[in-house]
Amino acid sequence: MGRVLLVGWDGADWRILDPMLEQGLLPNVQALIDRGARGVLRSTTPNHSWAAWPSFLTGLEPSNHGVYDIFEREIGQRRNLPVTYGSIKATTMLSDLNAAGATTVMTNLPLTFPPPRIEGKIVAGGVLPKWRPFTHPEGVAKELDDAGAPFPINGMSWTTFRNRPDALLQEAVDLTRARTKANLHLLDTTDWRFASLIYVATDRLQHCLDKYVAPDHPRYAELSKDPLAGKLRDVYRLLDDALGQILDRARDDDLVLFVSDHGFQSCTRALHMDRVLEHLGFLRFSQASRAVFGPMQWGRMRAVARKVYDKLGLHGRVSLPQSVNWQKTMAYTSVRSTGEGVSLNLAGREPEGTVDPADYETVRDKIMDALEGFLDPETGQKPFRRVLRREEVFTGRYAETAPDILMEPAPLYSLTHARSMAEEADWLSGDHRPEGVIAAASPLVSRDALAEPALLVDMAPTILAALGVPTSVEHDGRVLPELVGQEASVAAAGATSAEAERGDEGLDADEAAEVEEHLRGLGYLE
Ligand SMILES: [Zn+2]
Repeated sequence: MGRVLLVGWDGADWRILDPMLEQGLLPNVQALIDRGARGVLRSTTPNHSWAAWPSFLTGLEPSNHGVYDIFEREIGQRRNLPVTYGSIKATTMLSDLNAAGATTVMTNLPLTFPPPRIEGKIVAGGVLPKWRPFTHPEGVAKELDDAGAPFPINGMSWTTFRNRPDALLQEAVDLTRARTKANLHLLDTTDWRFASLIYVATDRLQHCLDKYVAPDHPRYAELSKDPLAGKLRDVYRLLDDALGQILDRARDDDLVLFVSDHGFQSCTRALHMDRVLEHLGFLRFSQASRAVFGPMQWGRMRAVARKVYDKLGLHGRVSLPQSVNWQKTMAYTSVRSTGEGVSLNLAGREPEGTVDPADYETVRDKIMDALEGFLDPETGQKPFRRVLRREEVFTGRYAETAPDILMEPAPLYSLTHARSMAEEADWLSGDHRPEGVIAAASPLVSRDALAEPALLVDMAPTILAALGVPTSVEHDGRVLPELVGQEASVAAAGATSAEAERGDEGLDADEAAEVEEHLRGLGYLE
């Protein structure tokens, strides 16, 4: 039975990789494509890593695993607990791999903290508090240290490197080198059947340096010739070299996959969604917060904020909160990481709800109309490509905790990272788009295997089918027969296993309180 070896580049996009492929800078990505197939891998809505990677792990849309944002969302509560592996309210493919005894190596996959107890070795990725073990078995961290291949956690917090691109690039190089060494050690010392190794440098660097490498940025023609663009492309070459070394560990009949959890689009403008809602008359900030977070305090607060974000590995994806006057608020931003979702302040559902459930549709229509008609005052352009109702996107078990309204940013817009309502993108130069990448190779994969876009939620069922591992989950995605062959595809359709015991444990009450207290102490929470 074959094995599956997967390398992920968080946020990788063909639009950015293609010019480098044409210049011959990514020979190992090119060799993989030449040996197999390439295509588009469509992400989830919302298309940020916190919702997307759980969809990769479960084969389910966010409304069936319940993770929509970097913070947990519970009916009737306004808590700000960072999401963890325990927030994924569905069985992940790791349980099925375990039940089948399929030894797995998994590193740096966002939202695998606390590390689940799998058959194999895992190095957690995503938000890693520094005071907790981050590997399973726990001894893996020491094993890597002893082998001279320690796995560095967190880092590349791009907002903290504001206007210091060289320092950020250096950290990306150092972390990529170290993680590659650790990855190779784990591959070489484990009898794995599934290995998934994720690199996040692509996402972190593209957020601020996209304009040097992305042809859809208006300044690309000029900036792509800048020496800094050369240094940035060197990081992609390093990642490509790592890919080559990893793929050297594959056997001829292994299924090899190269994926991203979402793509990237350039930004020249940024919004602050709560301020947009304030401008449209649906949200009021409290007067007290204006005093505390007045312009005089911004500089100092941001410096403190960066430290906390860095500590939690949040890499600045959360805008500084400001107190909302809930009694005078009808709607608020409920996807704080990317600004892609708005929820009504609904009575009975929200702690201080103001909108009568009987008025839900009327109020939501009014907010959607206002968002659709909203124009950036400086450019006269529409910042939203689409404004959608929750039920147009989500139909799963946890749809009731989903945002009531979803927005997709228009080209050149980010729906977050601004301090005022709408402003020129500052340091930020790229944000997510749904169209990610996939390349695949095995003796069964033909050249046109990925001619049609695949979905991120197709990955779990496809990987399990390739390994002949029965699934206990009815996936939203499907097995891609073009990647695993008809035979494995048909076999997978009939194979189910009893639901496996979940091997994870969330933050306990004390630890959760500690995280929350950290945030509250610095003024992030009310
Ligand atoms: Zn990102």
